[in-house]
Amino acid sequence: MPKVSAARPKRKKPKLGQHFLVDRSAALRIVESLGDLSQSTVLEIGPGRGALTALLATRARRLIAIEVDRVLAAQLRMHFSLAPNVEIIEADVLAVDFDTIFGPKPGSTRPGLSPEPERVQVVGNLPYFLTSDILLRLFAYRKYFGTLLLMVQSEVADRLAAQPGKTDYGLLSATAQLYARVRKLFVLPPAAFSPPPKVHSAVVELRMASQLESLRVPEKAFLSFLKLSFAQKRKTLWNNLKSEYQPQGLRNAMQQVGIEPTSRAEAVPLDKAAALFRTLGTTQSP
Ligand code: SAM
Repeated sequence: MPKVSAARPKRKKPKLGQHFLVDRSAALRIVESLGDLSQSTVLEIGPGRGALTALLATRARRLIAIEVDRVLAAQLRMHFSLAPNVEIIEADVLAVDFDTIFGPKPGSTRPGLSPEPERVQVVGNLPYFLTSDILLRLFAYRKYFGTLLLMVQSEVADRLAAQPGKTDYGLLSATAQLYARVRKLFVLPPAAFSPPPKVHSAVVELRMASQLESLRVPEKAFLSFLKLSFAQKRKTLWNNLKSEYQPQGLRNAMQQVGIEPTSRAEAVPLDKAAALFRTLGTTQSP
């Protein structure tokens, strides 16, 4: 009789982007880039084995760290059990309700007074495949956040910080710069991590400063407009937009705002994109 293998099929481990920072001077440099934290609440995304957590715990007034890996979260909880200012939350950062964590607690405000929420500093060596999703989530809850200091893939840092007219400028740059002032701070080689990733990494700083009000654009509709503008990078802005807008109205609006018909979206700064959006809105609906 043929032998039946008793081995069970291997269950696929979920992808978690676990490359732990082992360069201690880089960890210190990241934490010190946040400045004085003694009066601050800090949110750490993906603390992992605690390379940044340990440094933050001694500096921040309050530290909340969100880790999805059950084993790592349990280890961190044990490690920081005697630190009253540290809270480890085992959760997927994309599913966490930040209103519950940072929003006003019942009875914490006097009726009629609505204090500005405290600005939380965010730090994290991110799982790279989730960078855009995490950023969009942080932007959605931006009223709670001051500065984001994030380790991302170096090329993504270039795209986040790129200025209009440069080849790296795209939908990610426009979206990030709609919500924040972005700076690429420094680059780390793969050897700074264990296991080493295949790519170089960089720390970016995003100082939250939404431009929605000054650009006078509604958030959801303008984000859709940006997506359409960059739909196909090789096409001109006119070609991308004409699937949704009447050609004549589009041509007139571009002329009014001063955008050449041959321009690509990557050459158009946010204030001009917003002006085009507003002009199109007054002349025709998509
Ligand atoms: N901060 C640590 C360091 O610098 O060594 C670990 C960084 S590692 C690149 C990314 C961390 O994010 C891992 O610990 C991983 O388990 C965690 N992670 C992955 N996906 C996550 C998610 N959706 N929510 C929260 N944490 C996540």
